[in-house]
Amino acid sequence: LGDAARRFDIDVLPSCDSTNAVLLARAESGAPSGTVVIAEEQTAGRGRRGRSWFASPGDSLTFSLLWRFAPGTAPAGLSLAVGVAVARALRGVGAGGTALKWPNDILKEGRKLGGILVELVPGAPHAAVIGIGINLRLPAGMPDEVRAASAALSAGGAAPDANDLYAALLGELLLTLETFATAGFAAIRPRWLAHHAHQDARVTLSGDFGPPREGICRGVDTDGALLLDVDGRVERILSGEVSLRPA
Ligand code: ATP
Repeated sequence: LGDAARRFDIDVLPSCDSTNAVLLARAESGAPSGTVVIAEEQTAGRGRRGRSWFASPGDSLTFSLLWRFAPGTAPAGLSLAVGVAVARALRGVGAGGTALKWPNDILKEGRKLGGILVELVPGAPHAAVIGIGINLRLPAGMPDEVRAASAALSAGGAAPDANDLYAALLGELLLTLETFATAGFAAIRPRWLAHHAHQDARVTLSGDFGPPREGICRGVDTDGALLLDVDGRVERILSGEVSLRPA
């Protein structure tokens, strides 16, 4: 990691419920920006909307990073920016060819290889806990339907070494977060679009906004909102409670 290591304070836990939960609690008691919690075993990993993230020891990378932005920085697009860092880190350890699914998934051959969960620290709107889970191998204990939609780095050969991948991830996260902090998602958007899994594809969005919406996915704007072309009219969709599927 070189100089980048000085920007991180890394704690490796043998086991915890959720690295995001542990780090949110530490953030509320004043943990500094750059605090990282890695779990060798994560027993109750979280996705969005209270969904579960499955992991098993030795098969999964599960970690969270606390980042405190300057007041006035809008976190819009943060989870997309993190996706770019993850894709670049994977490429750096020989696992290129991943794609990004809006708003927070890393795909390999159309299946989910990793997920990102950004949570704002209560009472500190400019502090974000960034949780990342990546499958080295498919974790034990996944329900069949989740397993069928999941990918692992080990497919077709050996998975990269976990420590090499952690080092690559933290290095890329540092670069990406510094760019994000100074120039916002707009500066990262071209690289996100270069990895976009569904550019100009027909997709269905479902969420709490009413019936599912179908349209052509036209990428994202400079805030990271999805641009959905519905019969020639482009709608801007914010990521909150929305799931995207190929139609
Ligand atoms: P989507 O956008 O795909 O509808 P989501 O973004 O809301 O889902 P996340 O919050 O990122 O989903 O992750 C939780 C979901 O990911 C779970 O409900 C499960 O379907 C799937 N999942 C859980 N663990 C894994 C894993 N290790 N690998 C791949 N997929 C997983």
